[in-house]
Amino acid sequence: MVQFHFNINNVSECSRTIHLIGIVPYLFLETLQMAEKVVVIYSGGMDSFTVLNRAIKDGKQVYALSFDYGQRHVKELEYASIVCGNLNINHKVIDISAINQLLAGSSLTDDIEIPEGHYEAENMKSTIVPNRNMVLLSLAVAYAVSVGAEQVYYGAHSGDHAIYPDCRPEFVEKMNDVCKIANYESVEIFSPYLKVNKSAILADGISMNLDYSNTWTCYNGRDKACGKCGSCQERLEAFSDNKVIDPIAYE
Ligand SMILES: [Zn+2]
Repeated sequence: MVQFHFNINNVSECSRTIHLIGIVPYLFLETLQMAEKVVVIYSGGMDSFTVLNRAIKDGKQVYALSFDYGQRHVKELEYASIVCGNLNINHKVIDISAINQLLAGSSLTDDIEIPEGHYEAENMKSTIVPNRNMVLLSLAVAYAVSVGAEQVYYGAHSGDHAIYPDCRPEFVEKMNDVCKIANYESVEIFSPYLKVNKSAILADGISMNLDYSNTWTCYNGRDKACGKCGSCQERLEAFSDNKVIDPIAYE
């Protein structure tokens, strides 16, 4: 009786071992193939659209994050939702407009006229939202920690350096130092286009066959892009530099 019982156990042990031998390589392979999670700050504009697709091409599992900070219009956010829906990726739109009670004087959120002209002109300073990117990055890093992502993809580029201090490399580098120690989990802010301009970003997007009719850049939220605001001008320059026609309609 005892002997019989012993045998049964042996058989059962043996079959479990065989079963495990079969399953372990699959688990191991699955772990190897599991994509790294990243959070992508995605506004719906052409830069972050390229960053989003770069992250996907890099094989990452993307958590796209868009912010509604009380922009004058939500067209960019609508484009962002459509793109993420088509790509079937995680997308959150977070309403942070409450913080505008603390922020005054930006033409992007207040009732101040949007300046026309080139980005580097002094009057474009009215488009600065105080401390915006530090706020957005902080929230994105918090989201990254909560979903187990090790990187936040951020679309800063050199064309913004002159006007926006929080798009400059020294800002991103120092934010990165803080993000390594701010939580138990280290998060890296990854800015693939930090040291290149918008034309180079577009060139990378063209190399990925991206369709830029899926993006909205204009500061004004009318049916067609204005072609005159700093954002439109910079976009048009990038297309012209790449000798490609911008697929969106202009007034
Ligand atoms: Zn415009």
